[in-house]
Amino acid sequence: MSIMEEEIRKAADILLKSKSSMAFTGAGISVESGIPPFRGEGGLWTKYDPGFLDLDFYISNPNTAWPVIKEIFYDFFGKARPNMAHLGLALLERKGLLKGVVTQNIDNLHQEAGSKNVIEFHGNCRYMVCLDCQSNFNVSDITLNELPPSCPACDSLLKPDFIFFGEAIPPDAYMASQELARNSQAVLIIGSTGVITPANQIPIIAKHHGAVIIEINTEPSTYTNYITDIYLQGKASEIMKKLLETMF
Ligand code: NAD
Ligand code: ZN
Repeated sequence: MSIMEEEIRKAADILLKSKSSMAFTGAGISVESGIPPFRGEGGLWTKYDPGFLDLDFYISNPNTAWPVIKEIFYDFFGKARPNMAHLGLALLERKGLLKGVVTQNIDNLHQEAGSKNVIEFHGNCRYMVCLDCQSNFNVSDITLNELPPSCPACDSLLKPDFIFFGEAIPPDAYMASQELARNSQAVLIIGSTGVITPANQIPIIAKHHGAVIIEINTEPSTYTNYITDIYLQGKASEIMKKLLETMF
């Protein structure tokens, strides 16, 4: 057996034996679905200015911000489909081997893959919220032909329902993630640099409560030499496929 096969075997055994496991995902799990991460080579911030996602800028300049937001999050993200890594997590949940997924992603791909308990730390771009009356809408019910889109209930400005810079983490998601982390015996981290606070604390909380940390990433992250017990280097979909083949 190669070292990699041995590590995958160890990870598979841990996930099969653990009474309560969770996944923690970042932009890397969606790269093979065609969505680039924010940082690094080919990242979205090499092409776009992150200032468009600053809440104060957005409120003062919705006409400037919207064409860029539409291009990234609706024309582009809208075409993405879940890959083997998303599908694998949904399968583990169906088999009773995963209690839930805490994701930093806003692309809805875990839900599209069939995951049920998805805790969205940073919101979801498939919904819009009214900045005035707080009504929430499915994007499919909002026309983006005229920008910026306005609230069907009160005509005020709508905002994609994910966290902009300067916004707080949704309290329910924050609480639920911490609780899941405290009660997990194993955490599968997939495709996160671990540099975004406070989301990056979730696997650390689990580790402090005794969880074994399994990490899948193409490159070492801030977790790798810190809390990770088993590091599986490679693309999320390829490692997930091997992991599932070893488990079942
Ligand atoms: P990040 O962009 O900072 O880093 C991505 C990580 O994924 C890196 O560690 C990289 O090595 C790894 N990676 C790249 N390709 C991979 C692959 N094929 N398989 C496995 N790993 C791979 O991501 P982050 O830590 O999640 O933080 C960025 C923030 O940006 C998050 O808040 C997230 O919400 C947001 N974001 C979301 C999306 C999305 O919804 N798909 C896309 C871009 C950014
Ligand atoms: Zn409204």
